[in-house]
Amino acid sequence: MQRQTPQRVAIESAFASAGRPLGPQEILDAAREHVPSLNLATVYRTLKRMVEDHAIHPVALPGEPARYELQSAAEHHHHHFRCRRCDAVFDLEGCVEGLKKLLPRGFRMTGHDIVLFGFCDTCGAQA
Ligand SMILES: [Zn+2]
Ligand SMILES: [Zn+2]
Repeated sequence: MQRQTPQRVAIESAFASAGRPLGPQEILDAAREHVPSLNLATVYRTLKRMVEDHAIHPVALPGEPARYELQSAAEHHHHHFRCRRCDAVFDLEGCVEGLKKLLPRGFRMTGHDIVLFGFCDTCGAQA
């Protein structure tokens, strides 16, 4: 069984209240409100353990440091949006039709990964 340390509880609640994928620094900033002594090394160690326990799932974006999302979010097919100003990553609902039309003759697609980028509502309003 998994160990429920105060650090882990704080990190889980950071994910739950963010409702979007978080990177280690974002997790540290949010979870420190509950556990002020938390540091980045502990965050990394806890995240590693949570991945091993399948509580969270890494979100791999090309050329980006990993973010993580709760396993419950990872279980349904979705895509991500990355803000170019604040670097926050958001979940997108739904998917795109017609990707198979891009394939050369004889190719077979077994999956896809789509990342949209631009400016989030907060950053877009400042632009
Ligand atoms: Zn933004
Ligand atoms: Zn899709």
